[in-house]
Amino acid sequence: MALVNCPECQHRVSDSAVTCPSCGHPLKMHAVPPQFLAWRPFEYKSKATLFGLPLVHIVSGPAWTLAGFKPAKGIIAVGPVAIGVLALGGVGLGGICLGGIGLGIISLGGLAVGLILALGGGALGYIAVGGLAVGVYSVGGLSIGVHTIYNDPEILEKIQRFFGFF
Ligand SMILES: [Zn+2]
Repeated sequence: MALVNCPECQHRVSDSAVTCPSCGHPLKMHAVPPQFLAWRPFEYKSKATLFGLPLVHIVSGPAWTLAGFKPAKGIIAVGPVAIGVLALGGVGLGGICLGGIGLGIISLGGLAVGLILALGGGALGYIAVGGLAVGVYSVGGLSIGVHTIYNDPEILEKIQRFFGFF
């Protein structure tokens, strides 16, 4: 086993490594199935940063297959896996999340888990609105909560008032 320099970050890596353990750069393209090579990964990172994070980070393509787990991380993050203040992705984690699976303070997704507000097919949050909603205040086809549309007719008014605080 010999050590080679990663062409991306110059980190010393084993020549048997498929990807650089430091930056995730793919080292052995032939180890990647050809169908993934046809789908070129695309990455955009803005030069402007805020709190050490790029303002915008967009990852598209099979970044995770080429480079292990490589989420988009930024103030605004867009990608298959997105982590950011505003996260848009298949899986989104962040302050405001839009994704197949959203996890955040305010979350919208097929499956949404939100600290304050969750809107989704399956919603879990302080205020949950969804096909299946679980929350302190929940509105949904099937609602499980302290206040639901069934036991609290004023729920919509209360939720409206809650948003009045913002
Ligand atoms: Zn590297």
